[in-house]
Amino acid sequence: MTQDSTKNTQDTQQMQPMRYQLRNRYVFDGKLGMTTGLHIGGGKVTLSYTDSPVVQTPEGLPFIPGSSFKGTLRSTIEKIVASLPADLGLHSCGLPAEEMPPELESCPTAHQKEIADARSKDSKALEKVRKDLCQTCQLFGSPFAASRITVNDLYLINDEWSGTTQIRDGVAIDRDSETAKSGAKYDFEVVPSTTVFRLHLVIENATEQDLQLISIGLSEFVSGFSGVGGFRSRGLGACILKDLQIRYMELTDAERKQRLQRYLLRKKDGQDDGLDLIDAQDFFDKHISLLFEPHSRNQ
Ligand SMILES: [Zn+2]
Repeated sequence: MTQDSTKNTQDTQQMQPMRYQLRNRYVFDGKLGMTTGLHIGGGKVTLSYTDSPVVQTPEGLPFIPGSSFKGTLRSTIEKIVASLPADLGLHSCGLPAEEMPPELESCPTAHQKEIADARSKDSKALEKVRKDLCQTCQLFGSPFAASRITVNDLYLINDEWSGTTQIRDGVAIDRDSETAKSGAKYDFEVVPSTTVFRLHLVIENATEQDLQLISIGLSEFVSGFSGVGGFRSRGLGACILKDLQIRYMELTDAERKQRLQRYLLRKKDGQDDGLDLIDAQDFFDKHISLLFEPHSRNQ
């Protein structure tokens, strides 16, 4: 073993507590109510009465996979971030390459191939790549960095489910002529409107930019301007986020010990989980105002 490799191990050990240390935790809970039917494919086709069943739990209840909600939340955020003036400091690389302004091409997710080549030559490359990621990639994850947000699968809220799904007819369209293919009918299963799902998502070690992004995204859902699932152009998947509750814990250096003690000694009756409650509208107002404040930018 050379001296160099020993030194590297020590460096890594010293860096790890910083990267893995919990600095804050934000928990978002709400009810996602469908205002139109919902279709999220992925169910079993073989034993089904329809060409395209909705995804269901083993008990046969429809649900929204967390990954599916995370994807739609990310694209909702990307749509707004793409329209923000570049000097606000929020960037998102989730645009088709030809629409991407040149300053966004710096996000490594957009050119993974070159970076993979560079990494094989330089062990420090990954560190630099992480720093260059756009804010959306930092929050939602990229091949170069783990996601800071986790979204649970969204299950039905008890008593808010009619117990039946509907089958709708569609007509397969011939891509070349854009007319109905003769005899090419298909049908798909739809979860009826008024169905309500429980949303639970957590962000750990959030930066101020992460909190701005999540404020932008969730407030779009609160206003009913986003959707989930497939066939959105046919009016499916419209939804509204209600009863949003935001709880958090900030572990600043000065108060880390006391704050952690209070958190870990939380009462066991389930009433107090040791997190602080903040009104959702106040939370959105605070972080969206910070985005537009010139002095707050640190990236
Ligand atoms: Zn990116």
